Amino acid sequence: MHHKLSFRRKLQTFLLSLLLILLTAAGVPSAAYAAEAASADTTMAVHFLDVGQGLSILVQSQGENLLYDGGDRGHSSFVVSYLQKQNVSTIDYMISSHYDEDHVAGLVGCLDNFSVKNVIGADYVQDTKIYQSFENEVSSQGLNVQHPDPGTDFSFGSGKFTVLSPQSISSNDNDNSVAIRLENGINHFLFTGDTESAGEEAICDLGLDLSCDVIVPGHHGSATATTWDLLQQTVPEYAVISCGAGNSYGHPHKDTMDKLSDMGIQVFRTDEQGTVIAVSNGSDIQWNQNPCNDYSAGDETDIGTQPSSAYGSSSSASSDYISDAAAGADSPANVQADPEPVGDMVWISATGSKYHRIPNCGNMNPDNATEMTRSQAEAAGYGACKKCY
Ligand SMILES: [Zn+2]
Ligand SMILES: [Zn+2]
Repeated sequence: MHHKLSFRRKLQTFLLSLLLILLTAAGVPSAAYAAEAASADTTMAVHFLDVGQGLSILVQSQGENLLYDGGDRGHSSFVVSYLQKQNVSTIDYMISSHYDEDHVAGLVGCLDNFSVKNVIGADYVQDTKIYQSFENEVSSQGLNVQHPDPGTDFSFGSGKFTVLSPQSISSNDNDNSVAIRLENGINHFLFTGDTESAGEEAICDLGLDLSCDVIVPGHHGSATATTWDLLQQTVPEYAVISCGAGNSYGHPHKDTMDKLSDMGIQVFRTDEQGTVIAVSNGSDIQWNQNPCNDYSAGDETDIGTQPSSAYGSSSSASSDYISDAAAGADSPANVQADPEPVGDMVWISATGSKYHRIPNCGNMNPDNATEMTRSQAEAAGYGACKKCY
């Protein structure tokens, strides 16, 4: 009996050892293979839907869907059918930046048509019918609107997103917007809803990394958003402006467009280009079309003598930039009157319309910056950068 037990134990020990050897031999490569397989699809597609004067962004990655705002009532069915065409059946994260009609109305339609797992919104109520419908739809799906604190991370697809606001509730609904920074590998996108300057200041004060490749200028490009502070902390390469063609608000505003132009940020506009799609693979971002780089403002009463046909045409980016510079406040006439020594050297970025005192102003790539004399730059139609001059 004792002998038999001992034999069985020996057998067990032998089998366990064999198993361990096999696991060790197979372990390293199979674990590596599994990790590789899990992270193989690092694609994240970001669709900036053309919802006229409103906002709606669909993000898809690894079969998960995030919907940030749904546009206004008039675009609700467009948003629903757009999502259906992208094979959306479940919305993993529905984020309502704030409860203004041009952002929340389309979400009501989506709550009606898709199964929604999580709804994120700001912790305030609005005394409107559309807000009531939103609340009713959310509770009819057995959900509550979540109000995560700034700094909260959610994993999503091959990346994650971080909630950046609101820190507190303001009497200005726009400043209650839930802003997020979306991350996929080294690519980042910043959505701030209709956040205006006070809300942007709170976001800048968080002490979080806000750098991004793509920004959606707040409040449809209004002058009350996209502060220098935010631009300096984010240094985006691209801006996607969501606004309606010929909207009555004059969005995007000249101040915002001048800042984007001064920083050499490439511009996409839904009012001119329709739905814009960015696809990140975790290291690069590909677009479904080229940036329009049209820096003209929605309210064009202040663009001087430039014929409006100079804007929105298929002319090259650089000529648009130059038209914009010529039409700007620092017109060539004013600059030439400046008693600056002729030999004064300035820097030109690869794409911008301004000359700079330093080769790395804003998000300029110093490797692509060219040095020339100030008079050469002015002769070529460049204007002084308002940030460094
Ligand atoms: Zn809005
Ligand atoms: Zn708003």
